[in-house]
Amino acid sequence: MTAPVVDVHDVRVWYAGPNGPVQAVDGVTFALRPGEVLGLVGESGCGKSTLGRGLMGLVPRGAAIDGDVEFDGRHLLGLSKKEREKIRGPGMALIFQEPMTRLDPLMKISDHFTEVLHVHEPKLSKSEMRDRALDALRSLGIPPTRYDNYPHEFSGGMRQRIMIALALALRPKFIIADEPTTALDVLVEAQILNILADIRQTYAPAILLITHNLGIVAEACDRVAVMYAGRIVEQGPVRDVFAKPRHPYTQALLRSTISLKTQELNSIAGAPPDLVRPPTGCRFHPRCAHAMQVCVDKLPPLIVEGVQQAECWLLASGLSEAQRRPLQREEVSVADEA
Ligand code: SF4
Repeated sequence: MTAPVVDVHDVRVWYAGPNGPVQAVDGVTFALRPGEVLGLVGESGCGKSTLGRGLMGLVPRGAAIDGDVEFDGRHLLGLSKKEREKIRGPGMALIFQEPMTRLDPLMKISDHFTEVLHVHEPKLSKSEMRDRALDALRSLGIPPTRYDNYPHEFSGGMRQRIMIALALALRPKFIIADEPTTALDVLVEAQILNILADIRQTYAPAILLITHNLGIVAEACDRVAVMYAGRIVEQGPVRDVFAKPRHPYTQALLRSTISLKTQELNSIAGAPPDLVRPPTGCRFHPRCAHAMQVCVDKLPPLIVEGVQQAECWLLASGLSEAQRRPLQREEVSVADEA
């Protein structure tokens, strides 16, 4: 089997909040091989985007990150800011959610490309830069005649394609796509997903696709990692996880997906916790219908079952019948207050 291009081990990200440090990412581990697409899903506020930015070395001022991120054989968290900047672009790229906030409205598209290529490939001549940029734009369906246009002269879908072309101009080995289709209509969303599939076919980068849309994961990803309150609670091949989710949070997320067969609308009761003071034990326990006393007391173990893995006490062996008794809602509240 090919070696991973990205190996993330026990990564944690904290940042300063008005009420104390926010534990936005807490012990995340996964690996990605060339050509593989991993979907990172979960509700808003679960730490998905913070993780993506943390891997890119773009944590906000005042934030801290630790653990190990090995990319292409190098341990990134020990590198200086300058060394990280050299890796961004040709090594790893981030496709943002809302292109209009990332493209400078005062710069032509040609200037955006020149800036990126000049930083990472200063030896390219002007005409080589232009050729490279036009190739990238053409591969995303943007005609060369639009090269000197400003961002406001494009539709939302075209701007997102330009963002992707900018990210691809340097052929990165690892792409983090953070909700790349969120602000787009379904037709443009389908185009962007086709483009990601083409990119994968053409030069096989590893892709971390951050989304809250399980339909996109089903269509575009090989594996899925489900994130809740800063932790990955379940991961495995999409087909296996969707057919037989092990973790109650994954089960609840899948139940709340709307499809043509949906008879009733389901939602997950409650809300993700405050990450300044996250719940003890399993962070999902205040919302979990299966919560037991051990879930309140101790972090659940990671249970590996074939190609799937999940952090949940329900899957652990060795608990007595008495320990497996689900708590009533009132008991959960009392246990949390104790
Ligand atoms: Fe629910 Fe307990 Fe499993 Fe957490 S560990 S998901 S609270 S059963």
